[in-house]
Amino acid sequence: MSALAASHPLDVTAVLDKVFDGARLGPEEGLLLLERAPFLELAQAADAVRASKHPDNVATYIVDRNINYTNVCVANCTFCAFYRRPGDAEGYVHTVETLLQKIQETVDLGGTGILLQGGHNPELPFSFYEEMLGAMKARFPKIHVHGFSAPEITFFSKLYKMPVAEVIARLKAVGLGSIPGGGAEILSDGVRQRMARGKATVREWIAVHREAHRQKLRTTATMMFGSIESSQDILIHLQHVRELQDETGGFTAFIPWTFQPGATTPLQDAPATGVDYLRVLALSRIYLDNVDNIQASWVTQGLKVGQVSLHFGANDMGSIMIEENVVASAGCRNSTNEEELRRLIADAGFTPKKRRTLYEPAEE
Ligand code: SF4
Repeated sequence: MSALAASHPLDVTAVLDKVFDGARLGPEEGLLLLERAPFLELAQAADAVRASKHPDNVATYIVDRNINYTNVCVANCTFCAFYRRPGDAEGYVHTVETLLQKIQETVDLGGTGILLQGGHNPELPFSFYEEMLGAMKARFPKIHVHGFSAPEITFFSKLYKMPVAEVIARLKAVGLGSIPGGGAEILSDGVRQRMARGKATVREWIAVHREAHRQKLRTTATMMFGSIESSQDILIHLQHVRELQDETGGFTAFIPWTFQPGATTPLQDAPATGVDYLRVLALSRIYLDNVDNIQASWVTQGLKVGQVSLHFGANDMGSIMIEENVVASAGCRNSTNEEELRRLIADAGFTPKKRRTLYEPAEE
């Protein structure tokens, strides 16, 4: 527990009352709820905020595929078991034909989009990305490409000596539909220095999303917690997302998930528990009063906690994840299919609805 919350004069009940009244919380109030609010009262407050934004009791999900086009990376994030250094025998770059085959399989399963991300590969020319996207959109014009996290775009900008705005504009011109929030980890430079020194800083992560929003590309925001961050770092992260959303309104969703120690270098003694996850999820729903969609991370939490998440502020179960390499590399191998995900949502008391990437309804 932080010294700030331990000595804070605020009253948990008064802060929860503020939430039920629809008032915005300040960082110290958020910190107090995160650290002190009784578990089920926090859930009730988050559920009330969720219900005010989604009164129809619908919980959405998407059928899409996570495609990692290359695992070659020079960022050296200490928590990552997925990447290989340039020259490593296990490094790969998917060919365009392989990528098109993966999209065909996705379409055959009723998928509407792909989440396309990769390592920071210094050996590829920028034309690789333009040709890759161009080929995808030529063969599958209706498939939505949600691709290239802010650290990848920052990396492209530095490697190819192009302003971020030009990188985004060129990718958008060949079919990029939106940008995922990956690589945010914790938006606090002190934490990033220790676990992700080789990739985008807080300022750079925010700059990419701001520019994408300016160019009318929607993005998501994520947060990977449960490693070396403090509760204050979590509030700093949420504050960054809320401020940019106030400015641009460009985020479609927020997705908190927990660090997966598994095969990676341990960053802490005790990994986040299901309760830790649910507390942060609930606080995210409460604190991010300007973000419509909060996504449950059943991939990292397991399907049962994923289901409970719908009562802790989440209104979306994310993707059935036809393929998920990065989390699987860290030893996390939860899986499901569309039928099971719909049953889990219904059993939790919600109406399942299939959506597309930008949260529009999809044909069922
Ligand atoms: S998390 Fe991403 S950027 Fe970091 S080492 Fe792994 S692949 Fe590279």
